[in-house]
Amino acid sequence: MNSVIEDDLKYIANTYKRNGVAIIGGSGAVARDINNKKYVDMSSGIGVNSLGYCEEKWVRAVRKQAELLNHTSNLFYTIPQVELAKTLCLRTGYQKAFFSNSGAEANECAIKTARKYSFDKYGEGRNVVITLVNSFHGRTVTTLSATGQDVFHNYFFPFTEGFEYVKSGDVEGIKSVVSKGGVCAIMLEFIQGEGGVIPQEKAFIAEVAKICEENDILFIADEVQTGVGRTGKFLASEHFKVKPDITTLAKGLGGGLPIGATLFNEKTADVLTYSTHGTTFGGNPIVCQGANTVLEEIDEMLLMEVKAKGNYIKKQLEDSPYIESISGLGLMLGVKFKGEISAGEVVSRCIGKGALFLTAKEKLRMLPPLNITIDEIDEAIGILLSVLDDINKEK
Ligand SMILES: *Cc1c(COP(=O)(O)O)cnc(C)c1O
Repeated sequence: MNSVIEDDLKYIANTYKRNGVAIIGGSGAVARDINNKKYVDMSSGIGVNSLGYCEEKWVRAVRKQAELLNHTSNLFYTIPQVELAKTLCLRTGYQKAFFSNSGAEANECAIKTARKYSFDKYGEGRNVVITLVNSFHGRTVTTLSATGQDVFHNYFFPFTEGFEYVKSGDVEGIKSVVSKGGVCAIMLEFIQGEGGVIPQEKAFIAEVAKICEENDILFIADEVQTGVGRTGKFLASEHFKVKPDITTLAKGLGGGLPIGATLFNEKTADVLTYSTHGTTFGGNPIVCQGANTVLEEIDEMLLMEVKAKGNYIKKQLEDSPYIESISGLGLMLGVKFKGEISAGEVVSRCIGKGALFLTAKEKLRMLPPLNITIDEIDEAIGILLSVLDDINKEK
């Protein structure tokens, strides 16, 4: 254990503040560390292990694909990739997909598409993308630019130009930027994840959709965190009854393998043309086969369970005297504590007692596997409540 931590500190760029746990395996929503200690995992690798650790069907599909075809370039057709695209399109009503390897890349692809759509139709100079204050869109230089938080706009100058930030709910702010001309897209998260599990207002989203429609501005939904069943609908846009021109997916799509997807509607499906975009690894057959299994498992029944389990968690917590509020939808939840209770401290104490949670800004955040059992939820919530009691007793 110590040598893992020592070697990690020595040989891996120190960009993460890791918890002092080395995870070596897991099953369902339960992770196992190098000392064989078990943890109920309410984080699922930041919403990635949508089916939990090493789910049987997923493992079988990935293993079988690894034995059949590990990789070929995008200069050839593959069955898993086209099957994934077809399933995604039929399921969501989108027309075409582009596969990459991460959320940031999926968003880069969306931004490139929006700028090219505008360039093809209106020529140069109509390239501004409006994003929201407190958003998170990724870590590449361009997606950092898109991210509406000043803390991310440091060191790496010059950042990509052409981004304007407006506060969630500020319809007038959006109209004012649009009125200057030059806007090609508005990009947003329906529930800001990294920003603190903050859902958008329905009326605001309806206005955004309308402004986009009226001005031929593309509506880009970053569903990297909210997509693929996380909120109890396949896409979070369904809660808001809107159909963005482009939707990006990533985290939960591969069930643990790296994938990004950018989905295009009729308007945007043919914007990217031969040689205008590409990737070596994106759409890899093993990764796509993992995603195909995830999509098979996320049926209407599972989505209903996601909703029910989210409500169940809220119910277990609503009477706690230490909790101020709970935000989010489905199994994407943020817990705001009362008074001086720090989410970071709660999370680190929960680890000691065998439960893994995340933080998001000042909140504790939960993104458990979509198929987590009620027993697993009870165990994790029990640990959380006991930690809150402990903290309170020590005061
Ligand atoms: C995680 C996340 C990203 C970035 O995804 P990576 O796979 O880390 O590049 C982008 N947007 C949202 C909303 C995210 O939650």
